[in-house]
Amino acid sequence: MSHSLSGKVAIVTGGASGIGAACVRQLCELGAAVIIADRNIEPAAALAAAFPETTAAIATDVADEASCRRMVDFAVSRFGRLDIAVNNAGVGVPVRARIAEVTLESWRLITSINLDGVFLSMKAEIPAMIGSGGAIINISSVMGVVATLGASPYVAAKHGVVGLTKAAAVDYAAEGIRVNAVGPGYVDTPLLSTHSRDQRAAIEARHPLGRLATPEEIAAVVGFLASPAASFVTGAYYTVDGGYTAL
Ligand code: NAD
Repeated sequence: MSHSLSGKVAIVTGGASGIGAACVRQLCELGAAVIIADRNIEPAAALAAAFPETTAAIATDVADEASCRRMVDFAVSRFGRLDIAVNNAGVGVPVRARIAEVTLESWRLITSINLDGVFLSMKAEIPAMIGSGGAIINISSVMGVVATLGASPYVAAKHGVVGLTKAAAVDYAAEGIRVNAVGPGYVDTPLLSTHSRDQRAAIEARHPLGRLATPEEIAAVVGFLASPAASFVTGAYYTVDGGYTAL
């Protein structure tokens, strides 16, 4: 079974940093043309400059419906079609708080990006895939199947991404659009920059493999799910967590 994505066109939301940037590089290496969609346009454009023939960057806010539509229109006008979408853009909880102390503002900020953003991205992407099929990979988290203390908006949003993935897979299977979720354990990216050295050591120890993942280890599974090698995989949640949820 081939892993080649030659001739395919992909979008990666949140593609300027961390897991998203690794996905951009992975999809390019497999032969796809890639749109890097990120609200932070400078690093997105810098990454695009590294692959000038096969990538382009667009400033995108996944929490905004019109912005998601512009992202898809840009992909189709730049490269002629859309086959793959990696809905990865997300934010962590800025401050740990139990539910009674979570402000509605904080709840809405996190769920509007981490859950609404996946819905709005798919809502814009799917019409461009109807007729030719496609593969969508939504980035959830181990927090899509278990919880951690003081992070209820993030945990709820990531659980929502798993359910939304299954719903989309069922809705669009007849159109040949496969939809899967990936659940990373903790990954060494700027999202963890607020953690102290001690917190980081405790997190590493919580994974049976005894370390954080690299962004490339998550992108490798995304590349597989995007490829013809995963042609019978849809509605799945792929754990890539160093054993975190097995413990
Ligand atoms: P990161 O901070 O390195 O990258 C996130 C990217 O998303 C950034 O480039 C940021 O500009 C972009 N972004 C944020 N809000 C956006 C918006 N509204 N519209 C468009 N772009 C936006 O983080 P990361 O660790 O690479 O995280 C990527 C995804 O992986 C997130 O969904 C995160 O929840 C998930 N995840 C991360 C970890 C981890 O430990 N790092 C673990 C599990 C899941």
